[in-house]
Amino acid sequence: VQENPFIDWLTRNQRTHPQVAVGIGDDAAILTPDARDAVISTDLICDGVHFQATACAPEQIGHKAMGVNLSDLAAMAAEPIAAFASLLVPSDTEQDYVQRLIDGMSRLAAEFDMTIAGGDTNTWCGLLAINVTVVGRLTSHGPLLRRGAQPGDVLLVTGSLGGSIQGHHLDFTPRVRESLYLIEHYNLSAGMDLSDGLAMDLRRLTNASGCGAEIVARQIPISRAAKRMAQSPEDEIERALGDGEDFELLLAVPPSEAVEILAKQPLDVPLIAIGHCTAGSELWLVDGAEKRPLPERGYEHGADDRQ
Ligand SMILES: [Mg+2]
Repeated sequence: VQENPFIDWLTRNQRTHPQVAVGIGDDAAILTPDARDAVISTDLICDGVHFQATACAPEQIGHKAMGVNLSDLAAMAAEPIAAFASLLVPSDTEQDYVQRLIDGMSRLAAEFDMTIAGGDTNTWCGLLAINVTVVGRLTSHGPLLRRGAQPGDVLLVTGSLGGSIQGHHLDFTPRVRESLYLIEHYNLSAGMDLSDGLAMDLRRLTNASGCGAEIVARQIPISRAAKRMAQSPEDEIERALGDGEDFELLLAVPPSEAVEILAKQPLDVPLIAIGHCTAGSELWLVDGAEKRPLPERGYEHGADDRQ
């Protein structure tokens, strides 16, 4: 019997899920689909790009590996079912470190009633890399897609934006519950999660929807971290627009719906109106009396001072 501590641990600690007939312990997992569509997403994170292994705890890395994938399920308004995780670890890594990494992943998976139904681990001469694939299912309220936003729709964001490098990018809570709640109770035109910064991600949503947008600088919710890091008020806005890895939701909703959502504030996290969709395809930033094209900056992953 081949020793694989990761698989052994997963086998001993596996959670059951009604849609997972066979999880860890055989050659492959067997899922039991029901009438609802399956939603599948995959994301790879690696040392030096998405985190600095020397500057954070392995639990945080595991949390992020699972969290970025859950955020994509949230973006689609899908209920999490199962995750599959593959770890590539440097050959000198201690077993305890790998265990802590798995703890970080499995804790977040458990929080969202998701089972880790498969995985693999290998050692190599490179840096730590983790790939997670998640499987979810749609509810009867359907998917939340990037396409579907109409001119006049109000743009809403959850939480606050910018400065995630100060820690949020490692300890964020994916907005799965929020997205499922909103799609169940409100009529949403379009939505996505914010992973690369509002400026870049808004462009993706409007491109998919075939519309433009106008957002108002002083309405953008700026995180405390972004305020701490910023050199000036303009810099705060820039950070909120471009830092990335906020893992909040961006939604386009019909105006009447937006009025209700904003008045009710149905989530534990604030929902803020930042602007609206327009006809055409341009993106505009309204800054006081001035209106200028929204700068096309957004966070691009690269080796930087991320920690
Ligand atoms: Mg996404």
